[in-house]
Parts: sequence; C-alpha cells; structure tokens
Amino acid sequence: MNTKELRTFARSRIFSTFEERAAKGGFDRGLWREMAESGVVGMALDKRYGGGGAGMGEFVECVSLLAGEGLDLGLTLSLIDHVVLCAYPLQVFGSKWLKERYLPPLCKGDCIGAAAVSEDDGGGDPKRMRSSAARAGDGYTLSGVKGPVTNAPVADLFLVVAATDPGAGKDGLSAFLVERAAGVRVEELGLGFLPTSPHGRVILDGVRVSADHLLGEEGWGHEKISRSLFIWERSALIPVVVSYLERWHHLVVSSLDPEGISPDLRTLLARRKVELTAYRALGSRLLELTFGEAENGRERLELLLFFGKTLPEWVESMRAAVEEARVPLDETLRAMDRDLRLLEVGGSLLDWQFQKLLF
Ligand SMILES: Cc1cc2nc3c(=O)[nH]c(=O)nc-3n(C[C@H](O)[C@H](O)[C@H](O)COP(=O)(O)OP(=O)(O)OC[C@H]3O[C@@H](n4cnc5c(N)ncnc54)[C@H](O)[C@@H]3O)c2cc1C
Repeated sequence: MNTKELRTFARSRIFSTFEERAAKGGFDRGLWREMAESGVVGMALDKRYGGGGAGMGEFVECVSLLAGEGLDLGLTLSLIDHVVLCAYPLQVFGSKWLKERYLPPLCKGDCIGAAAVSEDDGGGDPKRMRSSAARAGDGYTLSGVKGPVTNAPVADLFLVVAATDPGAGKDGLSAFLVERAAGVRVEELGLGFLPTSPHGRVILDGVRVSADHLLGEEGWGHEKISRSLFIWERSALIPVVVSYLERWHHLVVSSLDPEGISPDLRTLLARRKVELTAYRALGSRLLELTFGEAENGRERLELLLFFGKTLPEWVESMRAAVEEARVPLDETLRAMDRDLRLLEVGGSLLDWQFQKLLF
C-alpha cells in the first residue's frame, strides 16, 4: 500500500470501526488479516520468510500513519508488539529452522505473537523472575505465571523468558518460543484502557518444549534478549505515539475558538506544537540509533529516558490546557485521553535507569 492507500485504510477500516470494536472490548482477527494482506504486518521482516524486506524504519513510519489517522492506540500496540517483541527477535536470534517454521505465518497474519517476560510480583525485574525452564530429556519443562502480556488472549506464539539456571540470577535466564498448546492457559485481564488490545496473564503449567525452541543460547534471556525487547519496543512505539499526539493536539486546537482563549493558553498550545515537531525529529534519530546504521548506545539510552519522562509530562500539560479551555470532549477525544495511559507503563524502570545513569 502506498501512503494514500494506507491513509484511506486507516480512516475507513480502523477509525470508522474503532468505537464498535472498543465497545465489544475486542480484538478483530478479520481486521488483523486485512492489515496482513495490506503488507503492513510483515513489512519489516525478511523476504526469505515471507516478509516485505522493508526494514523497521519503514514499518514504524507506516504504523505512525495508521496511528495518526486510525486513532486506535490499542491496535497499534498489538501490532508493534507482535512484530517487535515476537517476530523480529525471532528473526534476529532464532535458528534457521525456527525462522522457517514461524516467520511465514507471523508475516501472513495466520499466527499472532506476544512476549511474556514480566511477572506479577517483580514486573520485568530479572532478579525477581520466578518462571523456570527445567531441562527434561531432549527439551525443557516451563512453569510460571507471566503478565500482563499484550495480545496474550489471542496469541498463538509466545516468546517466554524463564530461568534455566535459577542460581545464576539474570545470567541464568533463557528465552523460548512457546506455542499455545497443552499446559498454556491464558486469563484475560481488563486494563481499563486500550480496549482494542487484548491483554492477559499467561500460566505455564509444566509446558514441554523441545530444545530447538530455545531462542539463541541458554543464558541469553536477559542481557541479549529482554534488554533488546525493551529498546526495540520503546524505539518503535515512540514515533508512533508522537504521531498520535500530533493528531490529538490538532483535534484539540481545531475545536477551540481562538478569541475565546487567553493569550497565555494560545502560547502554551503553540509551545506544545513546537515540541511535537522536535519530538518527531528526535524520534527519527532514535529509530536510526536502534534499527539503522548509527551506533551510539549512550545517546540511544538518553533519548529513551528523555521520551520516557517528557511524553507523560507533555500529555499532562495538554490535559490541563484542555480543561482550562473547556474543550468540548467528544467520544474520540475521551478515548484518546483514556488510551494515553499507555505512557504510564514502565515508569519504575525509568526511575531506576535514571538513578544509574551518572553514578
Ligand atoms: C498495557 C501494558 C502492556 C504490557 N505488555 C507487556 C508484554 O507484552 N510483555 C511483558 O512481558 N510485560 C508487559 N507488561 C508489563 C510491564 O512491562 C511491566 O513489567 C509491568 O507493568 C510492571 O511495571 P512496573 O513499573 O511495576 O515494573 P517494571 O517496569 O517491570 O520494573 C520494576 C523494577 O524492576 C527492575 N527492572 C525491570 N526491568 C528491568 C530490566 N530490564 N533490567 C534490570 N532491572 C529491571 C527495576 O528495578 C524496576 O524498577 C505490560 C504492562 C502494561 C500495563
């Protein structure tokens, strides 16, 4: 699809059906298949395995367009997590056999992916991870409870991180690809926001996986894989969220009578607009640092921390302006405000990373 076709798709198939899908609280497999047929789902992935070979930068650009026009942040998160937290790590870390087996259906939309890393008590803290993957015969037996996991209720394939060597802390974690099969149970979780993105808790009850479902090598679960997932997901989501915020800002401003608001408020709204332009440029830089040629881990971390703190503050400031200007809130603005709670996720990890940054 070219840009014009994508825009039309976002308006006619995503925006126009959003309220109905959100009211049902559901994920629409039909719409997912349409996105796959349009080429968006597999576009970042290797052509050898059924992908479009376009790379992550182009994928994020397309998803940004879908988010800015379709205004469905939940569907956007589901799509990003399917690609960035399951299919792409498989492409980077998986064996040829694993890639041949799972990438084609992931690209085609026949198989939905998710990543189950976090746990109820410890969040994403590798030191507090309880899930285990015990060696058993020529494979492993996985046990534990993961969540919340994006896409869990509809996922067919999970990237699971569990301890193969519980005594070795974060160095004893490994990652596996686990099909939804005997021993995998999912409990749906209602988040109260992002109604079009299904979330759930994944219960692994002695799930048998063969050794060839190990992603990479034993011990790669945290340092190589979980850390990459964190960086990839954030780097992909940030430009998409900025595009969504640009649309939010536009909808707020266009619903105001300029004569009816104070000069201070006009200045504040103009500043928020200018900031979005800067965020867009910085988001492109972040993408380049994560998926492109530019390599500078320190700059990438600082940009991730910058966005992690700045975007929620930006949203808070806009919320206050919306209230002060008494912007009439229609269904679209209400839903956007609700779904922006996504920006609160991962706050404590950011605080922890800030504390470690200089000292
Ligand atoms: C809408 C939504 C979608 C989510 N989707 C998923 C998903 O698809 N898959 C999934 O696994 N989880 C998912 N989560 C879980 C999420 O990533 C967090 O783990 C969880 O929300 C707990 O957050 P937290 O701020 O309490 O803790 P966390 O952000 O998990 O961090 C708690 C503490 O653990 C330590 N810690 C965390 N991560 C690391 C790390 N990488 N390295 C070192 N120390 C670390 C830090 O000390 C940190 O302060 C989702 C959560 C929400 C709300």
